[in-house]
Amino acid sequence: MFIVTRQIPSKLVESIEKLYKQGYSCQEIKDTLHVPVDVRSIQRLVKKMGITRSPSDAFRNAIKRGRVHFHYQPNKIKRKRLSPKVRYQVLSDDDFKCVKCGSSLLVEVDHIDEDKNNNKRENLQTLCHECNIGKSWYLRYPPKS
Ligand SMILES: [Zn+2]
Repeated sequence: MFIVTRQIPSKLVESIEKLYKQGYSCQEIKDTLHVPVDVRSIQRLVKKMGITRSPSDAFRNAIKRGRVHFHYQPNKIKRKRLSPKVRYQVLSDDDFKCVKCGSSLLVEVDHIDEDKNNNKRENLQTLCHECNIGKSWYLRYPPKS
């Protein structure tokens, strides 16, 4: 069983200072020293010596050493992709024209029941951009009767 020493032996202080000035983090110093010294006391020692890194420097070091990872976290549930074949089929069935107003400008494939994951043929229709936007706003904020 390890006994965590709060008091760092004086012979270690020098090597900790050297490692810290090389850019090691306190956790890394603890791991390389193989001595049961807890991270907090290394941090306290470094602070006492007045060689603490600025937060931005520490952050830059952490990125360089691979301790901070940036990864893409989508906060939305990814919707199923409509295959180009089905999209073309829907558009050509409706003669590349909006089924509501007949415009052929900026036509899009619309989900009739507004379920973006329901890509069945009978749930798809051709709408122009204006009608599609209008429909979604109409459904979101229906007119008061
Ligand atoms: Zn339209």
